Amino acid sequence: MYPGDAEFGFELVTCRWAERAWPPDRESTTVPVVARQLGTQRRRWDTIVVEADPDALDARATFGERALDSDLLHVVRNAPAEWAWYRDALPDPGYPWRYVRAAVHRADARGVVETRRDGNRIEIRRVAPYPDWVRRIVAIENKPDLDASAARALADQLAHDVATALADEVWVATAATGATVEPALLEDLPVEAGVLALDFGDTSASDAPEARVAWHPARLDPTSDTSLSADEKAAKRLEIAERAYGSGWRSYVDTMRPDCRWFELRDRAGAFVPWCAAKSRHQTAAECAGSCSEFQPEPPAWRTRGWPIEGGPGKGLKRLLAARRRRRR
Ligand code: SF4
Repeated sequence: MYPGDAEFGFELVTCRWAERAWPPDRESTTVPVVARQLGTQRRRWDTIVVEADPDALDARATFGERALDSDLLHVVRNAPAEWAWYRDALPDPGYPWRYVRAAVHRADARGVVETRRDGNRIEIRRVAPYPDWVRRIVAIENKPDLDASAARALADQLAHDVATALADEVWVATAATGATVEPALLEDLPVEAGVLALDFGDTSASDAPEARVAWHPARLDPTSDTSLSADEKAAKRLEIAERAYGSGWRSYVDTMRPDCRWFELRDRAGAFVPWCAAKSRHQTAAECAGSCSEFQPEPPAWRTRGWPIEGGPGKGLKRLLAARRRRRR
């Protein structure tokens, strides 16, 4: 059984499985970069898998662990190999140059370009070529209980994903029931969407699930939607990939309360999933907040057990997840 009643636990297990085993049923040299709850203003996906070129992904590390936003990407991708005035070097952004100038200063502060002054002029030079690290983007919706009504509820969202084709593939991940997926259920989903059944079987609580492809997805056609130009679409995709790179899927700990005395992480189906000792169950990300009626700060004594500088167990959990995120990179 997947961990807890909350879809949140299932989502974390899906992310961990994808990190280890993506892509299903296909030989590939790509490295999966996995993130959760990312997308555009109009559409947020549960899980994103960016299939990355391994060498180019290594080269991306030169630009640090944090995501490059669209303004920084404009500077970094166009920065020249030799010193040049930034207005000569960068393409006209289509908005006032003073915003570009601010982005140049931010890029310099992040160490992702070099700058120097020549009189009044700011010159820039790249620290390295920005690599072409994104091969494909895959969006996954997590629905552990994929019954007919859940499939119908998802259908519109998936149809929108298929129409916009911002991702190369869309999938629904569900918990395997032992039965084959009902044809009637598949009828409710767009045929282009893949269905992935994660089987938790009789495995022990900490074993990763087995995955079976119940329906193969179609490769989406990015030219089918004309609301964005090809360049705008490519820019949006790269922004999404950058955000996935910067946040990963373990960043849930930044919005939950690992500093609560009841917060624990339990190994479930291969992933660390938050557990609330006060409620004796896996809590959702939304309820584990400062507004939780059972929240109690971790006792001050926990902070003094040999880690007066590093902080208490809550900080330790954050460090553990951050270290795992770094190791994946
Ligand atoms: S008591 Fe509330 S804040 Fe504390 S771990 Fe449980 S859900 Fe989170």
